[in-house]
Amino acid sequence: MVQQSNVDVIIIGAGPAGLMAATWMAHCGIKARIIDKRNTKIFCGQADGLQCRSLEIFDSFGFADRVWKESNHMIEICMWNPDADGIIRRSDRIPDTIVGLCRFQQVVLHQGRIETIFLDNIKKYSRDTIKIERGVLPESLVIDESKVDDDEAYPVTVTLRMLTEEESAPPQVMSASKVPDGLFRSNLQGDFDEEARMIAASRARCGESEVVHAKYVIGCDGARSWTRRALGLELIGDATDFVWGVMDIIPITDFPDIRMRCAIHSADNGSLMIIPRENKIVRFYTQLKEVRPDASGRADRSKITPEFIFKAAQKILAPYKVDYAYCDWWTAYQIGQRVGNQFDVHNRVFLAGDAVHTHSPKAGLGMNVSVQDTFNLGWKVALVAKGICKRAILGTYQSERRRVAKDLIEFDHKFSRLFSGRPAKDMMDAEGINMDEFKDTFVKGNLFASGLSVDYGTSILVVKPGDAALQGDGTEKSARLALTAKKISEDEFAKKQALATGLPVGKRFNSFKVLLQADGRPWHLQERLKADGRFRVVLFAGNIRAPEQKARVDKFCAKLDAPDSFIRRITPKDKPIDSVVEVLTIHSAKRTETEVLRDFPEVLHPFDEHVGWDYDKIFVDDVSYHEGFGDAYKNYGVDKERGCVVAVRPDQYVSWLGELEDFEDLQDYFEGCLKMPAVSSAAKVTEKVSGLVE
Ligand code: FAD
Repeated sequence: MVQQSNVDVIIIGAGPAGLMAATWMAHCGIKARIIDKRNTKIFCGQADGLQCRSLEIFDSFGFADRVWKESNHMIEICMWNPDADGIIRRSDRIPDTIVGLCRFQQVVLHQGRIETIFLDNIKKYSRDTIKIERGVLPESLVIDESKVDDDEAYPVTVTLRMLTEEESAPPQVMSASKVPDGLFRSNLQGDFDEEARMIAASRARCGESEVVHAKYVIGCDGARSWTRRALGLELIGDATDFVWGVMDIIPITDFPDIRMRCAIHSADNGSLMIIPRENKIVRFYTQLKEVRPDASGRADRSKITPEFIFKAAQKILAPYKVDYAYCDWWTAYQIGQRVGNQFDVHNRVFLAGDAVHTHSPKAGLGMNVSVQDTFNLGWKVALVAKGICKRAILGTYQSERRRVAKDLIEFDHKFSRLFSGRPAKDMMDAEGINMDEFKDTFVKGNLFASGLSVDYGTSILVVKPGDAALQGDGTEKSARLALTAKKISEDEFAKKQALATGLPVGKRFNSFKVLLQADGRPWHLQERLKADGRFRVVLFAGNIRAPEQKARVDKFCAKLDAPDSFIRRITPKDKPIDSVVEVLTIHSAKRTETEVLRDFPEVLHPFDEHVGWDYDKIFVDDVSYHEGFGDAYKNYGVDKERGCVVAVRPDQYVSWLGELEDFEDLQDYFEGCLKMPAVSSAAKVTEKVSGLVE
């Protein structure tokens, strides 16, 4: 008898994208499984760059501090170009992360270490119930279309097959130096039948299999995704002729900027990107000009060895000398820029990470964009599975993330061409690359590379004007989604956005320091927007000590506290009032003249019979003793007297903005995306008695 089981969510692939999805499931208390065909996590190599947005995300789950401490911090980028005699010279220095952009800056730490930190977090928050099931391969995936619209159904059936130790440990191509390499996973490897071979071997020895019925499946199984192929979906795009080698070494060199991130263009020998890493390691991305793809478009990987890659690097760095005694890892890849034609099927099976976008790794975006995909998707799937959000929100995954993937491919296309091209010898050298254009693209690309420029378009989750189809990923699906979006005219929106110019709707909630009213301790506001699956309403209460403003705040809070308000209706009867939507308040009166209990309605600091009033929800924009003044109202562009109200999604993106008088509009927003129980007649009676209905 084949074993059968039900699960809310099954995640296929435990790379960065899969682990991020599992982290959400752990933090939201979802019954989930995560499988991987490999028998172990990776220990070295692959991706290493983490942008500021990824660190903000890690912080929202509570593990950015570990990454921040262990990683190497990227402070400056040096550009090296050939001079008139063809000798490489340092031509520019720019800050690695745009100054003032974020409380974190870009860091590097190898993917294996990051995966370990994820695993610890998943173990802690799932109470050890979500464990990676290694050496497990999906064998078939079937969607029962008659059940896809039924919230309670398990319409996806996945058959799993268990592998032996040997089957799940793919052989590496060991060079004479016996250094672990990534060639067996590199895109120079053309074999797409690896899974088929593993399944056949398991069947031949009567290996166990299991049938799992799932509500949702998230395919995070990398660039050669089995899930993508099982769904009949494709990656669209091309491979380029550029082949690059990667080596993680401890270099012995007289090159002066070896501990800086460097972009080096040699006159005739190709380009090199230097990434200084933790533990004295330095990553060399080296262009292999002598390896060209054949007529089939695929490069011959047989002659690529660490020695071959390193010789190419030495030529580029000449006249500086470089050697090494220790190599940690190496690989080679052919640049290809591809994006998935579709990111989901029936909003039941989703694809994320490398499974839906591949590009060159030099801009350090692979792991970042991949974890950000599932950071976008995970809470949506979790809240729909829990019955808190409507299933319609799942459509925003493709409209939001496919657009980011397309932007990424466009950026990478431009960046790779400029980085892989030969520098122009002079103005007349039309085939050469203009180094000013390269620098310009690099500097502009820095904002994109930070992950902070992501701006989600109109949808059921983001209230702003315009055609969702145009703002989304341009597909018919986005157009359908537009019909569910709450309508707002350009003029009306401009007025709303003017209430908080530093909090653009569709972008992540920027962070400035505020003080907790109750104890005066400074906090970065974003630290209080934890990734725990809760929506938030941030009430900029303005000058709460001014009677007129206090009256506005009281009125807003009375509506918030009324029995038919979204917050009351969506909160399960047996749960605290802040368990689905949390309200955080920031006021601008003087801290020392303000009291939590006296000046703020109770809904802003709810009472619990076991622990009393909640003193952790009210903040003040005032000067701290030891950490200066965050000047949050000014930085968020909010009027200090009148304030405003902001709705924030569980992934920290600003989704709605309004005046304190716009409560009904805010209520509409939540009615649109939350699965709200109908107003009971008892609640309606209370409304009339309390005189809240105008
Ligand atoms: P992956 O990290 O590829 O994870 C996919 C997971 O799915 C793997 O654990 C795999 O074992 C599992 N899997 C695959 N198929 C199945 C299946 N059928 N069933 C079950 N499990 C399956 N990025 C950079 O930024 N810089 C770099 O230098 C860099 N170098 C790289 C070198 C190599 C060799 C590779 C492969 C990638 C490199 N990348 C680099 C890219 C970076 O590693 C990825 O962008 C990032 O890991 C994407 O995460 P992911 O979770 O989407 O996919």
